[in-house]
Amino acid sequence: MHAPEFAIETSGLCKTYAASGGAPVEALKDVSLKIPRGSFFGLLGPNGAGKSTLINILAGLVLKTSGEARIWNFDIERDMRAARLSIGVVPQELNIDPYFTPRELLDVQAGFYGVRKAERRTSEVLEAVGLADKADAYARSLSGGMRRRLLVAKAMVHSPPVLVLDEPSAGVDVDLRRQLWARVQELNRQGATVLLTTHYLEEAQALCDTIAIIDHGRLIACEPTSDMVGRLDTKEMTITVDRDIDSLPGSLQAYPVEVLGNRQLKFAFSPSTISSGEIITAVQTTGFTIVDVATREAELEDIFLKLTGQPDTGTS
Ligand code: ADP
Ligand code: MG
Repeated sequence: MHAPEFAIETSGLCKTYAASGGAPVEALKDVSLKIPRGSFFGLLGPNGAGKSTLINILAGLVLKTSGEARIWNFDIERDMRAARLSIGVVPQELNIDPYFTPRELLDVQAGFYGVRKAERRTSEVLEAVGLADKADAYARSLSGGMRRRLLVAKAMVHSPPVLVLDEPSAGVDVDLRRQLWARVQELNRQGATVLLTTHYLEEAQALCDTIAIIDHGRLIACEPTSDMVGRLDTKEMTITVDRDIDSLPGSLQAYPVEVLGNRQLKFAFSPSTISSGEIITAVQTTGFTIVDVATREAELEDIFLKLTGQPDTGTS
C-alpha cells in the first residue's frame, strides 16, 4: 500500500466522559485535524484541554463519543488492527514494570504486536534511544529520563510510521530532554511522523513544523509554526544611542516609541507596516549615532496567551 497524504486525520471528533456524580465532561468538541505524513506536529494546550484524550482515542485506550479518526488511512474502528499497528504511543505516565529489564519489556511488547522473533529488532531499538548499555538492567534502576526513552523504544517495537508522545518532557531534566529530542528528530528525519503534546512552548517552537492549539476541548488554531509565530505582527526594537536624549526629536513623534533611561528608544511596531530599516534610518536622521540595536519578535507564548487567556504552564 502506498503511503497516505495524511498520517492522522480526525473529523468532528467528540468525547464526553460520563458523569460519576458530577456533570459529564466534554473533553473534545468537534475536533477536525489533518497531520501530514512526515511532519513533526505539536499539539499544545493548557492542562485539561483534551490533549491526552485525543491521543488515547488514537491509541485505542479511550472510546470516542462521535466523529471519525483515521491513522495511516485506517479507520480506528473499522480497521482497528491496522490502525493500531500504524501507531506507537508514548503515554504521559511513566508506567513501567520495575522487575523487567528493557530487553524483556520490548520482547513482551513485540509479542503483543505479533512481531515474530526473527523480525524483532530489540537491540537496534534500544540503541536508537541510547539504552543499549542498559538492555539487561532492571527497569527500577533506570532514571526518569531513561524510563521515558524506554517508553519511546516500547512504542517503536512494531516499527510504526506514526510516533505519538504525550508530554514526554514533563519531569525530564534539560540534558535528557535534549537527548530525547535528538533521537526523536532523527526518527522524524528518517521518515516517521511525530505527534507531540507539550506545554513547553519553546520546545514546540523549536521542534515542530506545525502547531495546533487546543483549549477546553476545541481546536482553536492549527498552522505552520512560522505562520503562528508571525501572526501577532508585533516586534520590539530597542535602540541605544551615543548621547543622552533630552527630549524626543519631533521627527520621531509619529512612531510608536518610548524613551527608556537616558539613551534608549524602544519601538513597538507591526513589521507588516513599518520596517526595522525605516526606524533605524529615522533615528539616524535625527543626528544620534546608534551604538546598539536589540529586537524581540513575538513568541509562541504571546500567541498562546492571546488565544487561551492562560500563561504557559510549563516552567522550562
Ligand atoms: P490534557 O491532556 O490536555 O491535560 P485530558 O485529555 O487529560 O487533558 O483531559 C480533558 C478533560 O477531560 C479534563 O477536564 C479532564 O478532567 C477530563 N477527563 C480526562 N479523563 C477523564 C476520565 N477518565 N473521566 C472523566 N473525565 C476525564
Ligand atoms: Mg495530558
